[in-house]
Amino acid sequence: MHLETKDSSDFLMGILDFIFPKKCLNCGKTGAYFCSECLNFTSLDRERICPVCERPAIGGATHPGCLKDRSLDGFTSVFNYKGIIRKGIGKLKYKFVSDIAGELVELFLSSLGEDENFTRFCRQPNIVLVPVPLHPSRERWRGFSQTKMLGNLIAGNLGISFQPDLLIRVKNTKPQVGLKEDERKTNIKDAFSLNPASSFPASPQGGPLLTSNFLLFDDVWTSGSTLKEAARTLKKAGAGKVWGLTLAR
Ligand SMILES: [Zn+2]
Ligand SMILES: [Zn+2]
Repeated sequence: MHLETKDSSDFLMGILDFIFPKKCLNCGKTGAYFCSECLNFTSLDRERICPVCERPAIGGATHPGCLKDRSLDGFTSVFNYKGIIRKGIGKLKYKFVSDIAGELVELFLSSLGEDENFTRFCRQPNIVLVPVPLHPSRERWRGFSQTKMLGNLIAGNLGISFQPDLLIRVKNTKPQVGLKEDERKTNIKDAFSLNPASSFPASPQGGPLLTSNFLLFDDVWTSGSTLKEAARTLKKAGAGKVWGLTLAR
């Protein structure tokens, strides 16, 4: 019997679901990682803030008075970092479960579509999604990078260009968790650099970097110092506008 590729992969997925049934990360009910009941208790982050001062800002655009040469131009996040969303992101970090990523990105994009300012930013020409990178040694140890995996899915769905290797992490920083605000800033300072081997030509003398606008993606916004530092690195090299995007805050 001849099976079409799609049928055989559906067949295989069916077997895998049978052997390892998907269970809700919160209540354990089988069927999906994020069951509809638990999703009712998911809280969306509706408050839009200026990424520089973290005070409320219309549509998440940086206040004109806060905007400097190398700051983020705006910031959008979808979920509050708690409950089932926090569990899902935690699983992604420490365990490779690509199905969870798929479900999470679907939820994320359905809420993101309602955000007018963000949608307007994405309509500009030459938008490139760049994930905040891990240090190479950490990525090797973990076996993958969750921001690359999620970023790839998001860029694909939004129909924008994806450049996972434009930024590299040159400093193996301590985890930001547990550090005070000023310690976080020092810890992350000069942590990123443009990758000279990137497939996206990033010469400061010209090239697409100067004519592109960037969506800088990270999974979670904690103090914002990581996204701010990554934005500074892109802008120092001459990048156009840089908008921060995270799943949760
Ligand atoms: Zn549930
Ligand atoms: Zn501000």
